[in-house]
Amino acid sequence: MAEETKVVRASVGTRLRRGLRFARTRVRELRMIGKALASTKHPILVHVIPMRQCNLACTYCNEYDDFSKPVPLEEMKTRLNLLSDMGTSIITISGGEPLMHPELDEVIRHIRRRGMIAGMITNGFYLNRERIERLNAAGLEHLQISIDNVVPDEVSKKSLKTLDGRLEMLAQYAVFQVNINSVLGSGVKDPEDALKIAQRAVQLGFTSTVGIIHDNNGQLKPLGEHEQEIFEAVMELGKRSFSRFNDFQHNVARGKEHEWRCRSGSRYLYICEDGLVHWCSQQRGYPGIPLAQYTPEMRHREYLTEKFCAARCTVSCVQQVGILDNWRDPQNLKPMPMAPASPPAELVQIGQGRGDS
Ligand code: SF4
Ligand code: SF4
Repeated sequence: MAEETKVVRASVGTRLRRGLRFARTRVRELRMIGKALASTKHPILVHVIPMRQCNLACTYCNEYDDFSKPVPLEEMKTRLNLLSDMGTSIITISGGEPLMHPELDEVIRHIRRRGMIAGMITNGFYLNRERIERLNAAGLEHLQISIDNVVPDEVSKKSLKTLDGRLEMLAQYAVFQVNINSVLGSGVKDPEDALKIAQRAVQLGFTSTVGIIHDNNGQLKPLGEHEQEIFEAVMELGKRSFSRFNDFQHNVARGKEHEWRCRSGSRYLYICEDGLVHWCSQQRGYPGIPLAQYTPEMRHREYLTEKFCAARCTVSCVQQVGILDNWRDPQNLKPMPMAPASPPAELVQIGQGRGDS
């Protein structure tokens, strides 16, 4: 695979712009941490879905369809204004495939205009030089691509082989931070792939993380001995990333239950394409309230609500947000799904499957 080891470098101008954007984002992240430690009244991280449709059809995924229309720009701006007014620090655009949204650049610009950190999760298939330059100009700060295997198969086309050219373009032209996520666990044919993907990510100057998939029943399952060795090697390679600061992934790898306080519905929100608030991508359906009607009191209740799925949770971004509050405010309320004000469209509670997040 000679072409996959090609080393590409950005121009001096791009490296200077990149250094500047990284430094500015780092300052904003430090402010975000200070604000989160000082008050528990605002969301730290929110996932928004401007586009449920996806150009791929990974067989494990429960987060896409092949027909949804893009959420109109004005509606996205209204939602972002509501989130900004709540004091939200970080917005991550997810999907479906967000790059299929025709006005995505404006969505990113609006996030930045409202003072929030702008990130995106994509399968990367629509990236080219022109699109990367547009994302630079819009003010994107973080981008994550999940790569499932080295060679595409019937489960997933998100492979190093299909995406390596796009990764090289990112290494050359992107001024935002790029993270490559690989996967280990149930259904992954060749665990060595995760290490090859992480090595390539680091070679191109990106950060790398590894996600662990639960089994088909949505349960935590320990990795085998060889998979655990690969897991530790990938974690070591990815030590520039935030995930090294917590041990939950090590617990997940060993199949151990994890003790933490999930603050979804409060410090973390998942806003679906219909504008409803959910705990997370894997627990859609609760509380199922339109964002415009989601009050500070509802957020506070969720902050203090114990989540029945926490001990066996594999959703890493919510666990990372949880670190900032795990030390305080025990959760002693029980989930009480609140009746939506208007009938939600096809709400589902999902304990199985996974997408990119
Ligand atoms: S995992 Fe990502 S790329 Fe694959 S179908 Fe789901 S949303 Fe699309
Ligand atoms: S699956 Fe994880 S992130 Fe989602 S609500 Fe349960 S504990 Fe929280």
